[in-house]
Amino acid sequence: MKDVQTGGCRCGATRYEITGSPVTQLMCFCSDCRAFTGSDAFAAYIVKQVDFSPTEGSPKFYATVARSGRAVKRYFCDTCGSSLWAQLEIGLVSVAGGSLDDVELFQPVRTNLADEAPAWARIPDNLEAG
Ligand SMILES: [Zn+2]
Ligand SMILES: [Zn+2]
Repeated sequence: MKDVQTGGCRCGATRYEITGSPVTQLMCFCSDCRAFTGSDAFAAYIVKQVDFSPTEGSPKFYATVARSGRAVKRYFCDTCGSSLWAQLEIGLVSVAGGSLDDVELFQPVRTNLADEAPAWARIPDNLEAG
């Protein structure tokens, strides 16, 4: 793995950099992630806040409260609307795996709230249930 990973939105206005390795990688099927992506799950490439830096653009965010009771800010490009990352209150950033320049870096190891997935969701069977 490279020391610095990069990613961004569809139009290129918003870019970010990640240093270091992810803390964990998972597919989240919660209703907030479903709304954020418009799909069955959010491909969560979770890194430490200190390892994450927005480098270009002025993404907007939508502030919510997760089921855990913790604040979450879900960032999206203010130009093209790509879902990009969620900033979690616990010092972590959940980066959209599909926004990484090298999408193969995303290698999920578990699911989150898969019991809330719609019937048409694609849940890989090799993932640990979370
Ligand atoms: Zn954009
Ligand atoms: Zn979720």
